[in-house]
Amino acid sequence: MLNRTVQFQSTLARPVEISGIGVHSGRYVETTIHPAPVHHGIIFHRTDLIDSNHIIPATVDHAVPHQLCTRIQNCDGIGVNTIEHFMAAFHGMGIDNLLIEVDGPEMPILDGSSTLITDLLTQAGLQEQSEVKQVFVMVDDVEIDLGNGRHARLSPHDQLELNVSIDFEDQLIGKQSLSYSHNKGTFRSKLANARTFCMLKDVETMRTNGLARGGSLDNAVVVHEGAILNDEGLRSDDEFVRHKTLDCLGDLYLLGMAIRAKLTTSCPGHALSTKLLQAVMARPDCFVIENKAEVSKPQAGTLTYPETAVAAHS
Ligand SMILES: [Zn+2]
Repeated sequence: MLNRTVQFQSTLARPVEISGIGVHSGRYVETTIHPAPVHHGIIFHRTDLIDSNHIIPATVDHAVPHQLCTRIQNCDGIGVNTIEHFMAAFHGMGIDNLLIEVDGPEMPILDGSSTLITDLLTQAGLQEQSEVKQVFVMVDDVEIDLGNGRHARLSPHDQLELNVSIDFEDQLIGKQSLSYSHNKGTFRSKLANARTFCMLKDVETMRTNGLARGGSLDNAVVVHEGAILNDEGLRSDDEFVRHKTLDCLGDLYLLGMAIRAKLTTSCPGHALSTKLLQAVMARPDCFVIENKAEVSKPQAGTLTYPETAVAAHS
């Protein structure tokens, strides 16, 4: 058994403001990420909806399987789309408690990666809190197979590790795989700047279906017949699998706490991740929660927050 040092929960030292357009809605949204108290978790708040139930916790039981993004919604059907690159940054930096205000139905896409989010969170600084971190520990395998090579397994491991492989028809991407061991600083150095990507032929289909309205070469790598349409090229040769790993890290954080397990997945996607996590939660014998707290969560809307924010508007 490894000798583990006790880790405490953390939140932000001050709020962070980020704004920009949603990749699918094309709508300009403003968000503020606020510090939150211990055992609060990650909770989204739709500030454009005054008279309805506008609180949406970022947990598996609020996740809705979706092909193109990660969507959470509450029992009244109020939700937020495209939370994954924010969730990846929160998970990557080990932040436990946050309240994210957003004035629209989709989080901003920014440059298609988690770089700006990670930079602003780092600039704001983290605040260690008084309670020990809860940890989701797998003790048995759970796997799911959606066919066509789409497979995911979460299994016991002594730290968080993600083994991700992708296989795309376009020769520019082809087969790529990445083994990522999650440690302090590894998210920022290995995953944070990997951008989302799409095929040019799929952009047409998405637009016909009312999606990707905000999509452009400023917020996605666009691939067409073995070439990249973005002038600046790739940020790394394996940027594609790095981005898929970033997405997986973000989706895993819907478990609501730090995780000790190994994810092995091929052809990952948000629907596959969501279904895997739902399968895990349906098998309470396959995991334990370390340092489990028996507390009721505070009401997000009743909290007060510091005023001075770190801000970026794109
Ligand atoms: Zn993504």
